[in-house]
Amino acid sequence: MTQVIRSSAELREKVAGWKRSGMFVGVVPTMGALHDGHLSLVREARRQSDRVIVTIFVNPMQFNNADDLTKYPRDEGHDLALLESEGVDVLFAPEVTEVYPGGFATKVSVAGVSEPLEGAFRPGHFDGVATVVAKLFGMTQAGRAFFGEKDWQQLQVVRRLVEDLNIPVKIIGCPTIRETDGLAMSSRNVRLSTAERAAAPALHRILQAAAATLRAGAPARETLLAAEAEILEAGFREVDYLDLRSVEGLRPLGHATEPARLLVAAWIGDVRLIDNIAV
Ligand code: AMP
Repeated sequence: MTQVIRSSAELREKVAGWKRSGMFVGVVPTMGALHDGHLSLVREARRQSDRVIVTIFVNPMQFNNADDLTKYPRDEGHDLALLESEGVDVLFAPEVTEVYPGGFATKVSVAGVSEPLEGAFRPGHFDGVATVVAKLFGMTQAGRAFFGEKDWQQLQVVRRLVEDLNIPVKIIGCPTIRETDGLAMSSRNVRLSTAERAAAPALHRILQAAAATLRAGAPARETLLAAEAEILEAGFREVDYLDLRSVEGLRPLGHATEPARLLVAAWIGDVRLIDNIAV
């Protein structure tokens, strides 16, 4: 049975009990509308912990776009059934007022790695992420936390956060889970029309081709301009960024001369998709 907990005091008591009996606790933070990408993190958490907490919280502080927040898919009943079948111990699903009670005044802001890419196109987004993740670590007291490489920059921001604030949690990055046609699984994919859904896998295909060209030594500027044109031809409306960056500090690279990541954000209809792959 997965126990649903909504109050952080009750969660703290539960976790304290586990820890007294020597159990190791893992957490998977999510915004719900769970899919196989999330469940792969849950399975990894199960492998690496005695007790697993999944958090579901659609964090208003990390949405820079009110429409995106309103349209964000929510289905807690279905999510709970999935978590039950994965043997998750606790679903922590607090209300907004539990996370941000009246008088709440703190903001966690990670400089550097949170500034380019998503940070440039979604002002305030990573402050919201860093703040809620710091709070979830405080509330869950977990020893390990599992994050997807799908959100590569977020993973780097979270790593920086726990190192800088001495938060005693180990961050585990897990590979991106894709549909069979290559589209990275995302809660936002359900908002794609049939035609958009059919066009969307081009994003990953074009990323792969560009990564191969870059690996062969081609310059990033020309390669990425050509790839961006292909993304638009494939039916995307706009490309926010398509960039070659160093894997950890996300420094811009002119050539793939060191371990690198190709990262993209693009709009198809009114849905914004992000993806990234190793180069
Ligand atoms: P979200 O609910 O979108 O905030 O995602 C919660 C966690 O699941 C984050 O650590 C994401 O990186 C991860 N995640 C989302 N989609 C995928 C995917 N397709 N493969 C692996 N992890 C994912």
